Amino acid sequence: MSERTTGTGEAPHYDLAVVGAGAVGALAAYYAVRRGRRVAVITHAGRGTGATRLSAGFDTPTGHNPAQRALAARSTALFGELAAGLGDAGRAPVDVRWLVTREKTAALDATMADGGRTRPVTEEQRALLDRTFPGLAHDDDQVLLSTAPMTVGQPQWLTDRLLDEVLGRPDNTLLEGFRVTEVRRTDGRVELVAADGSRITAAKAVLAPGPWVLDGPVAAAARERGARVKKVVAFHIMTPPPPGAPALVLEDADAFLLPHRPGGHWIFSITSPDWDRGPDEPLAIDARDRELARTLLARHVPGFLPHLLGGRVFSDCFTPGHLPVVDTVGGGDVVMAIGGSGSGYRLAPTMAEDALNLLDGRPRT
Ligand SMILES: Cc1cc2nc3c(=O)[nH]c(=O)nc-3n(C[C@H](O)[C@H](O)[C@H](O)COP(=O)(O)OP(=O)(O)OC[C@H]3O[C@@H](n4cnc5c(N)ncnc54)[C@H](O)[C@@H]3O)c2cc1C
Repeated sequence: MSERTTGTGEAPHYDLAVVGAGAVGALAAYYAVRRGRRVAVITHAGRGTGATRLSAGFDTPTGHNPAQRALAARSTALFGELAAGLGDAGRAPVDVRWLVTREKTAALDATMADGGRTRPVTEEQRALLDRTFPGLAHDDDQVLLSTAPMTVGQPQWLTDRLLDEVLGRPDNTLLEGFRVTEVRRTDGRVELVAADGSRITAAKAVLAPGPWVLDGPVAAAARERGARVKKVVAFHIMTPPPPGAPALVLEDADAFLLPHRPGGHWIFSITSPDWDRGPDEPLAIDARDRELARTLLARHVPGFLPHLLGGRVFSDCFTPGHLPVVDTVGGGDVVMAIGGSGSGYRLAPTMAEDALNLLDGRPRT
């Protein structure tokens, strides 16, 4: 039985404390409420302060190993359930074309979580690509391929929607400006302590700190699992995508061009080489990022070069093999869900579900 004891001098108590109000934390809280729990969601700042706010929301259900593919496939199913439960999960289909070295085609096919296969683009698809990506060019050993449509979502919109659902029940709460510095166990309860000594307690806790993972209470456990932080950069290409424009994945460069409908421009995600850059550092698009982006565009879509203007930059937590870590920390009543690894929106539903299943002794994905 839960009780809230604010104002009595005793720490408020919940069935579940969720540290993190990003996509992973919001989903964990939402699923917990559906399992009948009273939940406190905790954020060190406020809503929308994490990686989720800047996420491009591209969902390619792929994985480079069986575990990743299982997470991706389960997340696709869970997004479907969310759309049914919420009426709208803020997701829309997008056609996807792939530019990849010919000899890597089989390896790309093997990443598809739904067992789908790439096909060479048709003449009609190629004509649309040429109209969409001015100057489209590739190396002789590269091919353009198509797959079934994939999905683009609105991560912060969904996160807010989920938090609204959670907070729509009066026993749940969002605790803002509460930076958890320590998690300890007292009298069979999990106690979450902030820097100023204030605290709340819960029967169980999910820790989903995103890129703050190495500054908070799970830092040591996360480091043991090989977690690091890295800068993530998505440029803006300030020209409007034409109707029906597909996304173009530059597979060999781990980059993609995604039509961003709400903004009326393109998002150009590159793989920044800036490791060990945490979210509290001044993060900016720098000359190295710009050079990488310009080189890729000059090679493949030179007509976009004049439109490369600004973009999104933040930090994310990366784990070995880009496989999220969902595991207990120091006991069966506290679980960390970390390592979005640049794919933390598309994998968030399974990370959250696995965290709760682990706490509840249910099987995991
Ligand atoms: C520019 C960019 C583009 C991206 N594009 C994509 C994409 O196209 N597709 C995709 O799948 N993924 C993408 N990602 C990755 C994805 O956005 C992240 O992996 C995901 O949002 C991480 O969610 P999270 O909930 O783990 O963390 P966050 O959203 O960062 O949330 C972390 C939360 O934890 C709280 N917190 C942390 N530490 C503490 C503490 N000690 N005490 C209290 N609160 C704490 C914070 O306040 C925050 O609420 C992108 C990321 C970036 C930066």
